[in-house]
Amino acid sequence: MKINKLLVANRGEIALRVMRTAREMGIKTVAIYSEADRNALHVRYADEAVCVGPAPSAQSYLRGDAIIEVCRKLGVDAIHPGYGFLSENANFARQVQEAGLIFIGPSPESIEVMGSKLAAKAAVSGYNIPMVPGTPDAIDDREEAKVISAKIGYPILIKASAGGGGKGMRVVEKEADFDEQMDRAVSEAISSFGDGSVFIEKYVTSPRHVEIQVLGDQHGNIIHLFERECSVQRRHQKVVEEAPSAILTPEIREAMGQAAVDVARACGYYGAGTVEFIVDANLNFYFLEMNTRLQVEHPVSELITGVDLVEQMIYIAEGKELTIKQEDLKIKGHAVEVRVYAEDPANNFLPDVGTLETYVRPQGNGVRVDDGFEQGMAIPIYYDPMIAKLITYGNDRAAAIQKMIRAIDEYQITGVQTTLPFCKFVMEHDAFRSGQFDTGFVANYFTPDVLKTEADPQEIELAAVLAAYLLNTQKPNAATVQSVTAPSKSRWRERRLG
Ligand code: ADP
Repeated sequence: MKINKLLVANRGEIALRVMRTAREMGIKTVAIYSEADRNALHVRYADEAVCVGPAPSAQSYLRGDAIIEVCRKLGVDAIHPGYGFLSENANFARQVQEAGLIFIGPSPESIEVMGSKLAAKAAVSGYNIPMVPGTPDAIDDREEAKVISAKIGYPILIKASAGGGGKGMRVVEKEADFDEQMDRAVSEAISSFGDGSVFIEKYVTSPRHVEIQVLGDQHGNIIHLFERECSVQRRHQKVVEEAPSAILTPEIREAMGQAAVDVARACGYYGAGTVEFIVDANLNFYFLEMNTRLQVEHPVSELITGVDLVEQMIYIAEGKELTIKQEDLKIKGHAVEVRVYAEDPANNFLPDVGTLETYVRPQGNGVRVDDGFEQGMAIPIYYDPMIAKLITYGNDRAAAIQKMIRAIDEYQITGVQTTLPFCKFVMEHDAFRSGQFDTGFVANYFTPDVLKTEADPQEIELAAVLAAYLLNTQKPNAATVQSVTAPSKSRWRERRLG
């Protein structure tokens, strides 16, 4: 069925990103928004826009019933959920279908199976997919858990089955710490996901996070679009991503791609999805989980393959057969993405929401900025404080990194602190540049003082003169002082996505 009018059940950069492709395809777009997002770019970009409730997501972006009602009223025929919010909610996907609408994503059954890490492992068990040693089921008998952990060998990881965004995960170094970490994992799993079931996995040392992008149609064709490396993480959450990975050989890439296609096949997958693997120091790879939606970091795959993933998602949802064959796909060049957050890297990455006093995007060859803001706009306190995804593309990895440094230098943002200086630190670090790093990169190398650059003597003198002048003539500018000292203003406590 041809889609003529599409509603994006999301906000910010991803809503815009989806609408842009829809517009290119001649599809009318409908935005939904909360009262906090009245002036948001996605609202202005859409052909039509409807307010679905007050600022908190539970009263707006998560109101599936209200969103379906908007579709009925406006004659919408398909919903794209973006990432986060309702994108991995099997009940919502089902309600959308029951309302006679197209859900641009996989079947509710696929979402359900892959939404639970344990169900996912069970589903793929017949496919010879390498898995991290661990318990196949949830475990609540502590003594038994300790026996198993001893057998697997410490360090081990306690993980929430319903987990996501790095939450509900605890590393246990030795048996003496087991009970304490178990308590924490269970309580975090209950508070974040309403489900306290946890399981045990061996903690892979020097782990790298490598994931494979897959696309499947409703006729059983499944292809993969190579890997993304997402090993630069803070607290198990991605901050820098790239494609391809600096370490995979063509043979391992092929094997991982095949494994990912098998995982997708195991749950009858269609749409765009991501199969996540953990890779150890010897390049052994193990299945972690599958994300049944478009990922935040999908642009790096688009740049190296030339495929518009949203366009493919729409075609697949319309019931079309994939026209791209595996053998048609080749990796061309290298792409790097950094996530630009309104957070202060010098102050433990505390959210620093406020108004974008200056906001000038970098431009030029090989630079893509996916964002949802303009100069003068305020970053709402209710949602993830991501300002933008900055993506660069070059002929090879070194070129993409150089372009990223240039683009970071060009990016002008004032009014809030951002993670740009941190991203530049990563780009300039020898371990990152050499490709020899793992998920411990940030913990191993980053401390706030690495952001302190050697000041130019002239600048120091100028600052001293200015300070003396200010002291003599006026009170310090309240806005500037506030942005340095204000405690976290954000109410954002939800999980961050891959
Ligand atoms: P989530 O759904 O919360 O994102 P994942 O299972 O995808 O959880 O894991 C997130 C991150 O946690 C991985 O990218 C990796 O850095 C780390 N991790 C997960 N499992 C292991 C493991 N068995 N050993 C080492 N690190 C792991």
